[in-house]
Amino acid sequence: MRIDVVTLFGEYLAPLELSLIGKARRDGLLGLHVHDLRDFAHDRHRTVDDTPVGGGAGMVMKPGPWAEALDAVVAAGRAELGEGAEPLIVFPNPAGTPFAQATAHAWSERPWIVFACGRYEGIDERVYEHLADAGREVALASLGDYVLNGGEVAVLAMTEAIVRLVPGVVGNAASLVEESHSDGLLEYPLYTKPASWTAPDGTVRDVPEVLLSGNHERIAAWRAEQSLARTRERRPDLLA
Ligand code: SAM
Repeated sequence: MRIDVVTLFGEYLAPLELSLIGKARRDGLLGLHVHDLRDFAHDRHRTVDDTPVGGGAGMVMKPGPWAEALDAVVAAGRAELGEGAEPLIVFPNPAGTPFAQATAHAWSERPWIVFACGRYEGIDERVYEHLADAGREVALASLGDYVLNGGEVAVLAMTEAIVRLVPGVVGNAASLVEESHSDGLLEYPLYTKPASWTAPDGTVRDVPEVLLSGNHERIAAWRAEQSLARTRERRPDLLA
């Protein structure tokens, strides 16, 4: 899979060198390319923003650098993937469609995603119109119902959620099957050894007896029941 990120703050993406995503890069399962939007601004100050037309607070990202940057990224990706290759261009945006596990699954099957990180008040609307007219496939994706300062943190989260679903990235693929949101429910409670643990306050805390029974059917039934109860308690909206 190829992922391009256009940003003003490439340093934000440094954690993608680490852990399983970093290993996926080293193993050749993920090619990550970070581009500085300012390379596509041509005035002396490499300006990428200006005041909002119509008035209002803050600054808006200019359309010119974005159109040029995305054209250049598409051309660079096609040089690697072939002339017919078409990326999904994702704009992290609090006013976008909520990004969910189903989105991560669908996008993990895409060979190429380009993330475009907004800053300030956001990006001039004509960039989206331009991309639509050029026949590009565009998605606006929200990390949640709150506002971040920029798209980079959303790209970190989305990239991790997507790339861990690419075959070969997580060593034990079975661990991706029974986890929260894989089947619409939250995961059941987890325990490890010792079976009987004395907490720092002296209280002895035992794992539920059923998990020590060795009876796989009983264990599966208990876990299913716990998943449902936990979802009902914490996220009744998922059951609805
Ligand atoms: N003025 C915008 C609004 O009210 O919808 C908020 C702009 S925000 C300060 C700057 C950038 O951060 C956005 O363009 C987007 O790239 C990113 N961003 C902020 N919150 C986000 C969220 N919940 N999900 C994804 N991206 C977000």
